[in-house]
Amino acid sequence: MYQNDLRNSSFSGQQDHLSKEQMHRHHRYARLLLNDTTLRAHHYHMGLADTKVFECNQGVEDVYHFFFQCTRYKDTRKQLLQSVQ
Ligand SMILES: [Zn+2]
Repeated sequence: MYQNDLRNSSFSGQQDHLSKEQMHRHHRYARLLLNDTTLRAHHYHMGLADTKVFECNQGVEDVYHFFFQCTRYKDTRKQLLQSVQ
């Protein structure tokens, strides 16, 4: 029984057991951990964007601005903070 559970877990290395959504989620986490996102600061660093500044023109579009500063996401951020308190 235990061996069967282990074989079917996502830690066994057999990724064919993960759903598409699980794979996408793991991919997003990995990119954040590797400091490789679709944010403009990273694209600029790789020569794929002309500017680091976000469309709001209030700062560089990096992880910190995206999560903590950008006024565009003020309401979403407030909802998130309320839901985790
Ligand atoms: Zn912003």
